[in-house]
Amino acid sequence: MDHLSFREKLKELVSGEVLFDEPMNRHTSIGVGGKADALLFPKKREELGQIIARLRQDGISYLPVGNCTNLIVRDGGFRGVLISLRDLREKGIRPDESGGVCLHAEAGVPLSEIVNLSVEESLTGMEFCAGIPGSVGGGVRMNAGAYGREMKDIVKSITLINGTGRARSVDRGKLRFAYRNLDLPEDAVVVRAEFLLQKGSKEQVRSKVKEIVAMRKEKHPLQYRSAGSIFKNPGTVPAGRLIEEAGLKGSRIGDAMVSEEHGNFIVNAGTARAGDIIALIERVEELVFLKRGIRLEREVKIIGEEE
Ligand SMILES: Cc1cc2nc3c(=O)[nH]c(=O)nc-3n(C[C@H](O)[C@H](O)[C@H](O)COP(=O)(O)OP(=O)(O)OC[C@H]3O[C@@H](n4cnc5c(N)ncnc54)[C@H](O)[C@@H]3O)c2cc1C
Repeated sequence: MDHLSFREKLKELVSGEVLFDEPMNRHTSIGVGGKADALLFPKKREELGQIIARLRQDGISYLPVGNCTNLIVRDGGFRGVLISLRDLREKGIRPDESGGVCLHAEAGVPLSEIVNLSVEESLTGMEFCAGIPGSVGGGVRMNAGAYGREMKDIVKSITLINGTGRARSVDRGKLRFAYRNLDLPEDAVVVRAEFLLQKGSKEQVRSKVKEIVAMRKEKHPLQYRSAGSIFKNPGTVPAGRLIEEAGLKGSRIGDAMVSEEHGNFIVNAGTARAGDIIALIERVEELVFLKRGIRLEREVKIIGEEE
C-alpha cells in the first residue's frame, strides 16, 4: 500500500487521535524511542476490531500499548502501527454472584484509577496495584504485581480482540498467567478486564494503599524517568541485589544509569537514548553472568528497529 493511502485509511478508521512519524520518547515513561510510523488512539471498543482486521488484511504490523511504562522503543522507531488503548476508559462495579464485587474496566483505565475506585467502594484485593503506573490492559498482559500479589490473583475474566477483529471473553480458568506474563497470542489485544474483589473496611483499604505508596517512594528512584524493573527476579535472590553485588549501581552509559537507590532500575538521567539504555542492560547482563553465573531475564519489553 502506498504511503498516502495508508495514512488516509488509518484516519478513516480511527475516531480518536492519529499521529504519524510520532517520536516515542514523548510517550515512554523512560523517555526514549524513535518514531512510530503511526500511533493511534481509538475511542471505542467497537472500532478497535475494525482497525485490527484492516491492518491484518493489509499486512501491516501492529502492537497494542498502554501507558508505555514497561516499554523501550529502539532509536530506529517502530515500523507499523502502535495502537494505544489510552482512550478506552469505561469502568464500574457490580455485585458478583460469588458474594464478592466485580470491578470492570476498559484497557486504558490507569491502574491508579481502579485503585482509587476500590478505595472509594471499600473493596479489598487491589491494593498491591497502588503506585504501578501502568494501565489495565498493560497490567493484565504483564501480570503486573508487587508485594507478593499479582494480577492473576484478582482477574475474573478478560475481553480480547484477536487478529480477525472479533471480541471474546475468556474466564480466569482458561488464562495462562506466569511471572510477569500472560500467555496470549501475539495479535491478541486486551480490551477489558473484570476483577473479583471483596467488601472490606474503607479505612483498612485506604491505609494499606498509603503504606504501599510510602514503601515505593522510599525504595524506587521516582525522581527519574524509568521503565520500572528491568529484569525479572531469578529465583529467590532479587535481581536488584545481584546487580548491586556486581558493583553496578551508579554505572552509566551516556545518560543511562543504573539507579543508586535500586539496582533493578535503569533510569534516564537526562537525555539518554534507547541505545544507551539497551547497552547498559547488556552490560548488566554480562557482568551478573560473569560474577554469579546467573542469566538475568528481561521484564521490560524492547520493540522496534536499531538506528
Ligand atoms: C516507576 C515504575 C514502577 C513500576 N512498578 C512496577 C511494579 O511494582 N510491578 C510491576 O509489575 N510493574 C511495574 N512497573 C512496570 C509497568 O508499570 C507494568 O508492567 C504495567 O503493567 C505496564 O502497563 P502499561 O500500560 O504501561 O503497558 P505498556 O508498557 O504500554 O506495555 C507493556 C506490554 O504490554 C503489552 N500491552 C499493553 N497494553 C496491552 C493490551 N491492551 N493488550 C495486549 N497487550 C498489551 C505491550 O504490547 C507490551 O508488550 C513499573 C514501572 C515504572 C515506570
